Amino acid sequence: MVKHVIPKNLQEALNYLYTSDYHVIAGGTDLMIQKRNTADLPPLFNTNMIYLFNLEELKYVIKEETQIRIGSMTSLETLLHHEDIPQLLKDVIKEMASPGIRNMATLAGNIANASPAGDSLVALYLLDALVVLSSVNQNRYLPIEKVIVGPRKTVIQNNELIKEIVIPITTFSKTSWVKVGGRLADAISKVSFAGAVTVEDGRITDFRIALGAVYMTVIRNRSIEKMYKKLSVDSFKKMTPNILDQYQELIKPIDDQRSNKAYRMQVALNIIKDFIDKI
Ligand SMILES: Cc1cc2nc3c(=O)[nH]c(=O)nc-3n(C[C@H](O)[C@H](O)[C@H](O)COP(=O)(O)OP(=O)(O)OC[C@H]3O[C@@H](n4cnc5c(N)ncnc54)[C@H](O)[C@@H]3O)c2cc1C
Repeated sequence: MVKHVIPKNLQEALNYLYTSDYHVIAGGTDLMIQKRNTADLPPLFNTNMIYLFNLEELKYVIKEETQIRIGSMTSLETLLHHEDIPQLLKDVIKEMASPGIRNMATLAGNIANASPAGDSLVALYLLDALVVLSSVNQNRYLPIEKVIVGPRKTVIQNNELIKEIVIPITTFSKTSWVKVGGRLADAISKVSFAGAVTVEDGRITDFRIALGAVYMTVIRNRSIEKMYKKLSVDSFKKMTPNILDQYQELIKPIDDQRSNKAYRMQVALNIIKDFIDKI
């Protein structure tokens, strides 16, 4: 028989996951769609389910000297209005879903769902976020790109859950978020982009780009970024054709009901060019 459990605290949740297989449910905003039943019926959960919504100890934002720690059950809407959340992540969350969904949805759900079009992932890749995976035995601290290994594929084990997301505190001269969707709210991205740059004494000291919905996972390439650090802003801008060529090699979009390959490729390159032009 299918079991549904509602643990009262993290330890109890981890004990359940240790003793049996459960499907974790946080806000449910992805799962309710994935498990949708025929019209007018509630979603059909035919595996054991563990509901995390009572875990108050996972609802927090803690700012430390060098990092911000976000408890995995903190809602997107709470993050949107929290003073310690980086502005770039707020810009992204503001364009995710709609307020009702954001009141339930979590960053952890967006991460574990591992959609190439997951919007928060683009910001989390750009900001070098770490994901803390907890089980009865240990905590694993992994960079987000080591957690997501393909579309809908992660390294999260059956006995683990995402406990928190850690974001290093970094100051940039300029950040940018662009989401291309079919409408302003409740839209899945056709293409998404986050960029950040820091200029000191006329030279580029930090340059980062992350792209969503144009490859199997979010694209972030540190080798390309490193090549352009230390250049003067003028020299950097002259490299725009090279930069576009390099990202064109990485972008491998798909055709689907929302858009097609050619559109996604051209729009992604246009957004990168626009970001560089405006530095
Ligand atoms: C109308 C609508 C609009 C949407 N718009 C957007 C949008 O604009 N951009 C976007 O990116 N997404 C969007 N989504 C998708 C969804 O809201 C997000 O992916 C959200 O962040 C999921 O969070 P959740 O807590 O609801 O996840 P759930 O549905 O609870 O879980 C999703 C997956 O994550 C796993 N999971 C959840 N929490 C944990 C944890 N702590 N540890 C381990 N595994 C866990 C679950 O097992 C499940 O596999 C939309 C959804 C709807 C219904």
